[in-house]
Amino acid sequence: MDFSFTPLEQELQKRVRRLAEEQIAPIAAEADESGRVHRGLMSILARAGLLRYCVPQEYGGYGVKVVRLCIIREELARVSAQADTNFIMQGLGSYPITLGGTPEQKARYLPPVARGEAIAAFALTEPGGGSDVLNMQTTAVRQGDDWVLNGAKKFISQAGDANTYVVFAKTDPAGGSRSLSAFVVEPGTPGFDDSRRQDLMAPHPIGEPRFDNCRLPAGALLGQPGQGLRLALGTLDTFRTTVGAAAVGMAQAAYEAALSYAKERKMFGQTLADFQATQFKLADMAVSLDAARLLTYRAAWLKDSGKESVIKEASFAKLFATEAASRIVNESLQIHGGVGLEKGHPVERLYREVRALTIYEGTSEIQRQTIARQLLRE
Ligand SMILES: Cc1cc2nc3c(=O)[nH]c(=O)nc-3n(C[C@H](O)[C@H](O)[C@H](O)COP(=O)(O)OP(=O)(O)OC[C@H]3O[C@@H](n4cnc5c(N)ncnc54)[C@H](O)[C@@H]3O)c2cc1C
Repeated sequence: MDFSFTPLEQELQKRVRRLAEEQIAPIAAEADESGRVHRGLMSILARAGLLRYCVPQEYGGYGVKVVRLCIIREELARVSAQADTNFIMQGLGSYPITLGGTPEQKARYLPPVARGEAIAAFALTEPGGGSDVLNMQTTAVRQGDDWVLNGAKKFISQAGDANTYVVFAKTDPAGGSRSLSAFVVEPGTPGFDDSRRQDLMAPHPIGEPRFDNCRLPAGALLGQPGQGLRLALGTLDTFRTTVGAAAVGMAQAAYEAALSYAKERKMFGQTLADFQATQFKLADMAVSLDAARLLTYRAAWLKDSGKESVIKEASFAKLFATEAASRIVNESLQIHGGVGLEKGHPVERLYREVRALTIYEGTSEIQRQTIARQLLRE
């Protein structure tokens, strides 16, 4: 068994860590609280060529490899949740085009995403269709050569700032796994309104795009009618493991902060780190962090190695790493005492930011359900 990164991956990790610490960390607090796609961050990510890891080689990228996405997410999330979101949404928002687009659609939409000139969004969730995706109410009806969309989405990352939306809508009212289709929608299309924003506990670029008789040409359809769920799940199956990596990055930051604070903070004639109660907390944090990292990179490596299905391993990684990160950040805040609650403290920010990870791209409950289904099927 070999647990090491290839020389190329080691180089990538070193490069992203340096970029994150030198260029992103100084603007992280301001960027993370902005609640919009941060143009400064986007241009740092684009200039460094990182967005190219979200796009296939034939369309201006370096090819989509899950281990590399995980390395980048871990290092970015360690310093800035916003940098992590801005980065990975270029992948999540464009991957249905990579999977199901025609050569013309790929040539039109993917190169600008790789260069950071177009911002991508993935619009699946709706008020009534979160975990229960097939309950979505947005419809697309064929009229001549066109498709007419009606409905509303919710919790769509980058909405309001995006240039390329992949939107999932119901094309077969009878329901079932072939009832959804995927479309590419560009802002400015009559009947499409992406101006509604949402305000979350930790500011996030997110909104509620709406469709009111929004007419799209036949060329906006991705793949065939009825392939929407396949494209959505195919995308989520590739990207789910990377949520584990973002969790590992945040947990790493919280652990490092706890370790250094415990060594510095003096009380009762010694440091906080001298108490066994603190040492046990640090030990538990380190073990969970390592287990989360191992599960994440194993799932990523299996996917890149071409294993036919990594559904179970990706759910293991997403479930464990996001829950472990929530515990680690919570313990780090406890070790910091009142200081950790002060608005703007890095651990206070992490405490708010880590919370979304057990919810988006399949909640912890949905991951458990998926894992159990796989176990029973095996
Ligand atoms: C920061 C953030 C960014 C997001 N970005 C995007 C995006 O870019 N694109 C997009 O399409 N969506 C996005 N989402 C939406 C996200 O994927 C959904 O929030 C998620 O799928 C859960 O759906 P819901 O919020 O409707 O919760 P619900 O589905 O209503 O779930 C509520 C609760 O019920 C539980 N539950 C559901 N089913 C079961 C069950 N069978 N058994 C037991 N418990 C169950 C859930 O686990 C949860 O605890 C984002 C969400 C957040 C918070």
